[in-house]
Amino acid sequence: MSEKFITLKEVALNNNCPECFSKVGLRLTFKQKFIETSFYKSITNTINHNIVCETCNTTIYPVQWTDDIERVFEYHQKAFTPKKTSTYLKKLSWIVILFTAIILVAVVFFILLQSSN
Ligand SMILES: [Zn+2]
Repeated sequence: MSEKFITLKEVALNNNCPECFSKVGLRLTFKQKFIETSFYKSITNTINHNIVCETCNTTIYPVQWTDDIERVFEYHQKAFTPKKTSTYLKKLSWIVILFTAIILVAVVFFILLQSSN
């Protein structure tokens, strides 16, 4: 099983970095968790967000956020629409389901044949 966080939205912020005070480096990303197994692919409702400063290469954690950053973050969070959660069955799942159905039908058939004798 593999879990992946896929970036759905990335915005450059015009706020000062709380670490290096650069006004050009802050980047806010929203990521959504996807799960993939041999049987299915699934989009979960787990959303991750983080702010990284590309000038000083630091992750800016929410405790370090200034009021301005918080306001901008809330604005972007409201504007962000995650992908709908869904699960797709893969071919392997359908083969297993089909195979099970065929066996069930065969078993029922066998029982019917036995009881008619
Ligand atoms: Zn910085």
